[in-house]
Amino acid sequence: MLNTISSEQTLDAIIVGAGLSGMYQLHTLRDQLGLRVKVLEAAEGVGGTWHHNRYPGARCDSESHSYMFYFSPELVQSWEWTERYPQQPEILRYMNHVADFLKLRPDMVFNTRVASAQFDEPHNLWRVITSEGQVWQAKYLITAVGCLSSANVPAIKGLDSFQGQWVHTSAWPKEGVDLRGKRVGVVGTGSTGIQAIPVIAEQAGHLTVFQRTANYSIPARNAPLSDDFKRHVKQNANEIRALMQETPNAHCFRIKQRSALEVSDEERQAIYQAAWDKGGLQFRATFDDLLRDKEANDTAAIFIKHKIQQVVQDPEVAALLSDIDHPFAAKRPPIDSHYFETFNRDNVHLVDIRHHPIECIDANGIQTTQAHYPLDVIVFATGFDAMTGSLLRMNISGRDGLALNDAWHAGPRTYLGLQVPGFPNMFTITGPGSPSVLCNLPPQIEQHVNWITDCIAHLQTHGIKQMEADAAASDDWVQQVNDAANATLLPQVRHSWYLGANVPGKPRVFMPYAGGFARYRGICDEVAAQGYRGFHLRT
Ligand code: NAP
Repeated sequence: MLNTISSEQTLDAIIVGAGLSGMYQLHTLRDQLGLRVKVLEAAEGVGGTWHHNRYPGARCDSESHSYMFYFSPELVQSWEWTERYPQQPEILRYMNHVADFLKLRPDMVFNTRVASAQFDEPHNLWRVITSEGQVWQAKYLITAVGCLSSANVPAIKGLDSFQGQWVHTSAWPKEGVDLRGKRVGVVGTGSTGIQAIPVIAEQAGHLTVFQRTANYSIPARNAPLSDDFKRHVKQNANEIRALMQETPNAHCFRIKQRSALEVSDEERQAIYQAAWDKGGLQFRATFDDLLRDKEANDTAAIFIKHKIQQVVQDPEVAALLSDIDHPFAAKRPPIDSHYFETFNRDNVHLVDIRHHPIECIDANGIQTTQAHYPLDVIVFATGFDAMTGSLLRMNISGRDGLALNDAWHAGPRTYLGLQVPGFPNMFTITGPGSPSVLCNLPPQIEQHVNWITDCIAHLQTHGIKQMEADAAASDDWVQQVNDAANATLLPQVRHSWYLGANVPGKPRVFMPYAGGFARYRGICDEVAAQGYRGFHLRT
């Protein structure tokens, strides 16, 4: 097998995925370390999850000036966002700009899906086979497949018989879906559904929203950016970057160091009102105990539920939308542009599928235990097989043929979210066990890629053939991930995708590290400074 692989396909490193993480990793390994590297990407272009998530209203919830790379001052100066939260087409333009700016395209292989990746121990190589049968091999395998890229399409009886069109938001056709005048059903009211529903309501003839779990949402208050603000970003790039590295969730705002219970009722109301008016994820930064203390959290929950009841005119609809069964921000908190107002439109109808579940889909629409809803288009905004889905679908096998699916049968087991015991020289950017989805991703991608790059430089200069996470260090890290989650209200949510509970049969394990980005970064730096404590380095 080895002899049949061309020299061009024998590399130092293979990176899977051409999203932000794959692009930056290619840049550092190729341009800083001088290694031979290729990115393999299933899609026809760069963008990762943003390449596919083209649904109406798709937009980033992180503020635009925090959703970009800061590692290169020239790159920062070369780009300007137009809005407080960038829309998907603008994000895709940014990612294409990064690819051009860093001249990455010659080393990216598109329309190439990884079918399997096997560690060949005698040759100390990762061998990657694509679905077209191409073989690539390299010393290092780096997965840059994103946390939210495998669609979770619910297995609802009869979906195949539906005569209309159905689509999942994360696989929205490039050519779009004509919703004009149609009867559209949206299943799912997470961040995606909450973004899409107001826009779909404007296009569709009639929209039926199928809600299983009511959700909190804070107004985004999106607006064009002023020239002053654009200048501010360019002139203060270092400060913005430093701030994001210091905060627990890698956003460019600080969480106020005070308890929601230490201020008077009037003061608390005024603080929440100001945050509501300002809009965005900063609402959860009003107090530092909202995610730790249920009583503190209740104050925010009550404030938001009251707002929903004020906005939504029909009291029954308002009651359904505000009947929220989990603490505020214990699920990823959505932000919206006129989500609750949308339910005041004549062409929008809310269906409660918690009490009257979907029974089946037939040729003409959705049947719940209570009624039949005729539809032309069904939109599944039902989320992702998050964090592990894309990794497990690649059929990765490590030392002694150990399949990642078997190694993780009880849930993901990693050391720092960076390596898996039994899988030498494989690195996972923003893998399970890292802060990942609990944080604003670009700063965390920079941190992970920089750490991996420094690590590979160390391995190369010290003649180290193999690096592998120690099993006991990984078990200890999994325990730390559990402890960090258990110190918060996060594991209390029934259907949370943080726990894998949204995918039938998936092990229930809290996957991201909830101890905060700044603390995590410190741990990673310390591990490296101590000669990569917890890893086996074999010469
Ligand atoms: P999600 O948060 O997992 O929400 C999925 C929705 O579908 C939930 O309302 C869920 O109900 C419902 N659902 C799932 N399976 C169902 C079934 N079988 N029957 C009926 N309803 C079902 O997914 P998402 O909204 O796509 O968001 C995922 C994550 O992507 C976000 O948390 C965020 O991190 C990221 N995201 C980011 C942005 C952004 O920054 N712009 C935008 C969108 C998404 P239950 O709650 O009852 O399970």
